[in-house]
Amino acid sequence: MPAIITENDVSQWDDETGVVYHFPKRYRALLQPDTEVIYYKGRIKDKAFASARLSPEPHYFGMARIAEVCIDKKSDKGDLYALIEGFISFEKAVLAKVEGAYLETIPSNRTSNYWRDGVRGISRSDYYAIIRLADLSATKLTAGEPAFAFDPLAFESANEGDKTNYFGTRYERNKILRLKAIAIHGLSCKACGFNFEKVYGEYAKGFIHVHHLIPISAYGEETAVNPQTDLVTLCANCHAVVHKNRDVTLSMEQLKEMLKR
Ligand SMILES: [Zn+2]
Ligand SMILES: [Zn+2]
Repeated sequence: MPAIITENDVSQWDDETGVVYHFPKRYRALLQPDTEVIYYKGRIKDKAFASARLSPEPHYFGMARIAEVCIDKKSDKGDLYALIEGFISFEKAVLAKVEGAYLETIPSNRTSNYWRDGVRGISRSDYYAIIRLADLSATKLTAGEPAFAFDPLAFESANEGDKTNYFGTRYERNKILRLKAIAIHGLSCKACGFNFEKVYGEYAKGFIHVHHLIPISAYGEETAVNPQTDLVTLCANCHAVVHKNRDVTLSMEQLKEMLKR
């Protein structure tokens, strides 16, 4: 069953449109790997966000697919997050209400509280009705635009892999992998526990290096990187030590062993 996922203009989560979506565990059954989703925004609350939205009215603005669902280890309520793939942003808003009728079929027993749910299962016919109105013929495929500036050096040192290629075609892909790695592994160093925000405060919030456990040069041209198993978050010091010798990349075990002394 396809699902609607609501994105709020202001959120407590580090969600990135088309990349990562956090949700409470009560929606677990609705958001499974391979679920097709449509992104929704409710009516605008703060006019400051007007330019970041396709419409101030409740509307749909993109479609995607759930790749993977993970447990958010930072949540004590058992919250989850979904890794999103294949995000396509609509060229223009598809309004939730067309000629006085909602595109989503509201069950008769839910009329009073239907819109309270941020995640809503919908029928395949409702799903296609929304997509048809999105007029995707005019839409180009995008991978989602993360909100913060991306520093390729913070993702992986350039001596791994081909430099010219690295800063060109891999840029967009790495930006998304970086966000997924942080969503999975968190913002503290996996070797020593260092956290940039804790030590340096607000200014360093969100900063961390993302390290490839397998050097990029060992990959073929378009090998899929699994952010869960192939990437790890490291502080700048630990990352520098891992790559101290250009020809040898230390394993996490070797690094942790050194830290024990
Ligand atoms: Zn560290
Ligand atoms: Zn590295």
